[in-house]
Amino acid sequence: MWSDTPEITQMREAVRALCSDFPGSYWREKDRARAYPEEFVDALTKAGFLAALIPEEYGGSGLGLSAAAAILEEIHSSGCNASACHAQMYIMGTILRDGSDAQKQEYLPKIATGELRLQAFGVTEPGSGTNTLGLKTTAVRDGDDYVINGQKVWTSRAEYSDLMVLLARTMPQDQVQKRTDGLSVFIVDMRKAVGNGLTIKPIRTMINHSTTEVYFDDLRVPAMNIIGEEGKGLRYILNGMNAERVLIAAECIGDARWFTAKASRYASEREVFDRPIGQNQGVQFPIARSFAQTEAADLMVRKAAAMFDAGETMAAEANMAKMLASEASWAAGEACMQTHGGFAFAEDYDIERKWRETRLYQIAPISTNLILSYLAEHVLKLPRSY
Ligand SMILES: Cc1cc2nc3c(=O)[nH]c(=O)nc-3n(C[C@H](O)[C@H](O)[C@H](O)COP(=O)(O)OP(=O)(O)OC[C@H]3O[C@@H](n4cnc5c(N)ncnc54)[C@H](O)[C@@H]3O)c2cc1C
Repeated sequence: MWSDTPEITQMREAVRALCSDFPGSYWREKDRARAYPEEFVDALTKAGFLAALIPEEYGGSGLGLSAAAAILEEIHSSGCNASACHAQMYIMGTILRDGSDAQKQEYLPKIATGELRLQAFGVTEPGSGTNTLGLKTTAVRDGDDYVINGQKVWTSRAEYSDLMVLLARTMPQDQVQKRTDGLSVFIVDMRKAVGNGLTIKPIRTMINHSTTEVYFDDLRVPAMNIIGEEGKGLRYILNGMNAERVLIAAECIGDARWFTAKASRYASEREVFDRPIGQNQGVQFPIARSFAQTEAADLMVRKAAAMFDAGETMAAEANMAKMLASEASWAAGEACMQTHGGFAFAEDYDIERKWRETRLYQIAPISTNLILSYLAEHVLKLPRSY
């Protein structure tokens, strides 16, 4: 479970080779301009890496989560960032698991080639935040359509996606029998929707993430675009979240490895007081400690991915992997910053950019407190807190 298959080892090499065409200068330029890394996304698409999880019968590689995690880890340990397109890998899982045969035939082959981008995921709302059951966006059946009204926030990549998977309320909360019922999932074709009831507004953030607010104003979506059964959408969305958490955790492991390698190199080379700074244990220890954290978190990432691939329940492992890996990457980022002293602030070293980028993962796609609360309630059987 903790060592790679020869196929995954080979794939890691191929990803690293691709990433070597996208050095720090490429990412710095995109970061300054808050521009979408189109060339990088194209290269990953052409190489087939974003179709790793799509079964071969729909034109993908039919690989498991362990392989997909290895791809994302390598992207991040190479100094690149997969957030512009990682969702193309996993949002399609909602269609694959819970969509109809017709939806699978229509969308998956085109997502596999990159002809269609499905990398926007509309769940979070400004009013309800982490409380997904409190979301207010409504979808009301009207003839052959659903009419959508409401607002989402942090809908990343909406401007660079053809399709969005949207979670909306189809039955008011006070009328449902089970509190988790009443939400439904839709495929929104944004190429048709923008200007016809869908408005996208970019949010400028501390990282280059192409995230947005989206507004729905009487947007009509064909009823055949509903995924699965009306009112059961929360379950379909939750089914995909564990895979997402493992993949994000793998990106954190990649970031941590990048920081650790960079810090170790610099600590050995940089001389102050006529000796390498890395000779001082005050400099060594934070690097060594975050390395140990990273190795431990990586084991949990590998365990969660292996369990997913074996079809086992792995919600606790996915959550722990995401929490531990995001904390390890932050610890490694801090060690790397401190080791570089003032030079850590210079953009040309890429440290401050990676440091900003890796901070996100303690908050999104799920914040640490909510993971702890999940473990406390569902694994340790402590009293429910909310
Ligand atoms: C750059 C970026 C990209 C994103 N991309 C997407 C996307 O593509 N699609 C999407 O749907 N969402 C996206 N998100 C949203 C993200 O998933 C949320 O920001 C995250 O889940 C936290 O929700 P919130 O911001 O509403 O925080 P809130 O729910 O308002 O919580 C704020 C703080 O309070 C804590 N808190 C809240 N309730 C409790 C509790 N009961 N116990 C203890 N602590 C609690 C939280 O842990 C958090 O630290 C993105 C966010 C960012 C910043």
